[in-house]
Amino acid sequence: MRRQLIAGNWKMYKTISAGVALAREIAEGTKPDGPEVIVFPPATALAAVAQAVKGTPVRVGGQNMHFAKEGAFTGEVSALMLKDAGASHVLLGHSERRHVFGEDDELIAKKTRAALDGGLVPVVCVGETLPEREGRRTLEVVERQVERALRQLSADEVGRLAVAYEPVWAIGTGQVATPEQAQEVHAFIRRHIGGSHGDPVGGAVRILYGGSVKPDNIAGLLALADVDGVLVGGASLEAASFLKIARGRG
Ligand code: PEP
Repeated sequence: MRRQLIAGNWKMYKTISAGVALAREIAEGTKPDGPEVIVFPPATALAAVAQAVKGTPVRVGGQNMHFAKEGAFTGEVSALMLKDAGASHVLLGHSERRHVFGEDDELIAKKTRAALDGGLVPVVCVGETLPEREGRRTLEVVERQVERALRQLSADEVGRLAVAYEPVWAIGTGQVATPEQAQEVHAFIRRHIGGSHGDPVGGAVRILYGGSVKPDNIAGLLALADVDGVLVGGASLEAASFLKIARGRG
């Protein structure tokens, strides 16, 4: 039985005080026996948000990290630093990291390795661009991204992480994947992981959908057999819409 996971990616939004206020509202509306709820604030607000939700079921993650433990990497943060600030999870390979900041599969694989070594749960994001989908290359692209990110990991390690399928054309556009599109790719990822790391891991790994998730489309997405939760951008910036999504209905 895979516990549902509802994650909010705040991107580069929310000051410390705004983030703490949002996190408190989310924590007040989150029950311990519901889906797992994680928020990903910007790095500056992470420690304060983690402090604000301490003792509640809400967990906190970083939006990105460097693969090195420490070093002369201006502007970067390490797994140790995220943990120190109160993070339990980290987003890796988000499409904005891949397409705006040029991160490639090799770098994302190094970060995934380092996150696990540093005691963080990686949420590894994959997804095709619109030209890739239109060129019927979705499964090939997603397979390559998943394979490269996970190939150096043990079955046990893959069982601990989560994968987020986020079609690039659906992120921030209001154009959500259809249930058929989402289910096809999720089932494909699960089969791929079953093949590479064993069927028990394929059956246990949580695969989230991301891309224009809103209260009015959440029920249809969570009803899909291989969708184990969602990664939410825009609709996670207000407690009311995020909590509706976490409750699974609009
Ligand atoms: C995201 O940032 O991961 C995302 C899915 O954004 P949105 O929900 O705004 O499309």
